[in-house]
Amino acid sequence: MANYDFDIGILGGGAAGLTVASGAAQFGAKTLLIEKEKELGGDCLHFGCVPSKTLIRTAHIRHLMKNAGKYGLPYVDLRPVDFGEVTKRIRSVIRVIQEHDSEERFCKLGARVEFGNANFIDEHAIRLNSEIYSAKNWVIATGSSPFIPDIEGIDKTPYITNKELFSLTSLPKSMITIGGGPISIEMAQAFNRLGTKVTVVELSGQILGAEDKDMAEQLMHILISEGITFHLGSMPLSTKDLGNERELVIKNAEGRTVSLRAETLLIAVGRKTNLQGLGLEGLSIETDKKGLKIDKRLRTSHKHIYVAGDATGSYQFTHAAGYEGGIVLSNAILHLPRKADYTYMPWCTYTDPELASIGMNEKRAAAAGINYSVWTEEFRSIDRSLADGDEAGRIKLLLDEKEKPIGIQMLGPRAGDLLGEWVAVMNGKVRLSTLASSVHPYPTLAEINKKVAGNLFSGKIFSEKVKKALKFFFSLKGRACG
Ligand SMILES: Cc1cc2nc3c(=O)[nH]c(=O)nc-3n(C[C@H](O)[C@H](O)[C@H](O)COP(=O)(O)OP(=O)(O)OC[C@H]3O[C@@H](n4cnc5c(N)ncnc54)[C@H](O)[C@@H]3O)c2cc1C
Repeated sequence: MANYDFDIGILGGGAAGLTVASGAAQFGAKTLLIEKEKELGGDCLHFGCVPSKTLIRTAHIRHLMKNAGKYGLPYVDLRPVDFGEVTKRIRSVIRVIQEHDSEERFCKLGARVEFGNANFIDEHAIRLNSEIYSAKNWVIATGSSPFIPDIEGIDKTPYITNKELFSLTSLPKSMITIGGGPISIEMAQAFNRLGTKVTVVELSGQILGAEDKDMAEQLMHILISEGITFHLGSMPLSTKDLGNERELVIKNAEGRTVSLRAETLLIAVGRKTNLQGLGLEGLSIETDKKGLKIDKRLRTSHKHIYVAGDATGSYQFTHAAGYEGGIVLSNAILHLPRKADYTYMPWCTYTDPELASIGMNEKRAAAAGINYSVWTEEFRSIDRSLADGDEAGRIKLLLDEKEKPIGIQMLGPRAGDLLGEWVAVMNGKVRLSTLASSVHPYPTLAEINKKVAGNLFSGKIFSEKVKKALKFFFSLKGRACG
């Protein structure tokens, strides 16, 4: 049997790579983790989830201050935002989390960490900083990068992506953000709330294209009411640097050419997988339209080379990367064959209100040819929402023909957290009657989960048939009013 330097080698020290490295090392596998940047943590920690959610929180606080009157408080004279102070807070949060993702921690766990650009020289070996390292198994967990669309003039126009966004030195007066996906929409609201005039340009007729149109539109109208401008169905044609401003020319939904101008141009139209420069061409590895062709066990056509995280080109979330890291561990280290199953992969767009989803929505159910019924409940019927002044939004529960839950979408305060109960319901195959009859603390937002499940049963429980039976058996006298 061939003798390799390591049991497993991992390219990429982000959410996926770190999950595999820590698990493999703790299981006693000789583990090599290679990261191209100077620090571990990947996009989520440095340019993604952590800085964006930290910024969103700051923007939320400012929004509350601006709307102090709504809560019976005196008007607050808001001074302009010093973005340097905001980025200072972002850096401090990253610093704390970085300790958890440090080289020292991984070394303590037993993994060797190396930094630099690695490329495969054969199916089992890579070259890194002029050294050769071989491993029995490899994991490609190199993540993704912002996709830059081919717009005329883009090469001569200064623009930013999520890589630069969180280290801007001052708050832009105005910003055009190209793309209507989660990153663009979250940042549009956050920057708008901090004082930037934001315009969103989206090619399709809806923001957040993976969501049902009614939910996405409800959110968009809230964002419009906060002052954001949307150009849906609009195609970016060209862009130009005007010195202090950038110009973006679009063809709008009516087919008219419109010139938009802003101090900052943010590009957030999607992601491309980081597979270039890895020497994969020399391995005659199979590819498909997403990138590397992988099976359900996340193995490439070379069964000992796995792919996890954004590099798969599938669900580009940190929790998906962590889940896939676990699948790789199970297959490569524990030799327990395990397939990835995305049926109940949840996600959330962290706008205010948040838009969270698990399982089927109407779009996906219709595409899959599933007959479904929809049950809804409004946040304004939840006492806690009213007390908090967060009454916008609703929950949408989809049931199949057997009245089993197949999906949830929730637009509302803390919807991402509230979805946790549905994660347990769906994965644990909990009966809706259990959820409907369980006691939830009052007043909490989570009562909406119990209430929407209860809607299914209240029609049956308080039906004319039941009333008639009770009247017959217990001589009930009927209505006392009207
Ligand atoms: C603005 C923004 C906000 C986001 N918010 C959320 C959120 O709220 N929730 C959520 O779930 N997801 C969010 N995401 C997505 C999330 O960041 C990614 O899904 C997650 O980081 C994927 O983890 P990963 O390990 O696959 O890739 P990454 O975290 O990107 O890690 C890949 C690592 O590989 C390294 N690498 C690349 N090439 C090489 C090479 N050749 N050799 C060695 N190393 C290499 C990179 O430097 C990087 O450190 C957000 C993304 C963005 C951009």
